[in-house]
Amino acid sequence: MSVIFLSKQTKEEFKKFFSSFDTVLFDCDGVLWLDNEPISGSVPVVNRLRELGKRIFFVTNNSTKMRNEFAVKAKRMNFNIETDEIISTAYLAAAYLKNMDFKQSVYVVGSRGITQELDAVGIKHYGVGPDVLQNALVHVIENFQMESDVGAVIVGYDEHFSYVKMMKAASYLNNPNCLFIATNTDERFPMSTDLVIPGTGAIVSAVETCAQRSPIVVGKPNPYIVDDLIKKYGIVPKRTLMIGDRVNTDILLGTRCGFQTLLVLSGVTTLKEAVALKNSHKKEDKEMVADFYLEKLGDILPLLD
Ligand code: PLP
Ligand code: CA
Repeated sequence: MSVIFLSKQTKEEFKKFFSSFDTVLFDCDGVLWLDNEPISGSVPVVNRLRELGKRIFFVTNNSTKMRNEFAVKAKRMNFNIETDEIISTAYLAAAYLKNMDFKQSVYVVGSRGITQELDAVGIKHYGVGPDVLQNALVHVIENFQMESDVGAVIVGYDEHFSYVKMMKAASYLNNPNCLFIATNTDERFPMSTDLVIPGTGAIVSAVETCAQRSPIVVGKPNPYIVDDLIKKYGIVPKRTLMIGDRVNTDILLGTRCGFQTLLVLSGVTTLKEAVALKNSHKKEDKEMVADFYLEKLGDILPLLD
């Protein structure tokens, strides 16, 4: 079974598809940009879709920045987007606690993006920054002090992740009343070399194994990431298009929410992997099969005039 490339559709077929949705949710890295460089053609496509009346949102699993920092980054690349059209996992983790009127402190395994979003909603936190064994483990154990007001652990992307941080996170989580929140579980970063760069999922797995508990994951593919959007903007799932580059986050989220799905091949998932999923009979694989495909988002630009 082959996959349907939008870029190979006739004008008539594309027109029919185009009028079947009014909201577009864009994954960011791998669809709009790669790291700090826009992917060729993505800027005019996003801006043109807005001009043509589509409602646009950016939905990213990246927990290292605040929402307004993503807006600055996107605007610098010439994307026409406002902060409240961006949903990021650091923002969501902080919003999750704020919505439950959380009054305690958070132990953060993660980056500045998370602590700044917590600051923005007035929630105290500990833990961000380097934290490694300074002495033999036996001394660390003897002098180990827990903060008495920690009521939640948030785990996100942390370049300073260490044995000590895992120990602290798991110790707080030993209290069954302590909440366990993970931003996302992306396994690794896409790389064009043999180098493997661990993603947040690898850090979450380490803490999860040690704590012997599973977290609430606020990022894709958990529909939680779009629940508020759906309610606030009255989004109709079947008239919504999710565009992503990763099948086990973006496309799975789309399937779970009843959105139409478009996989671009400019990021993580390869055509070979996508075709293998399409040919699989397993239910869990079927949920990761997109409705439509593109080599890159910019390829639909000629169809948007
Ligand atoms: N997490 C981190 C720390 C990242 O840097 C990135 C991409 O840059 C992601 C997750 C994936 O982000 P997205 O959901 O936009 O592909
Ligand atoms: Ca992505």
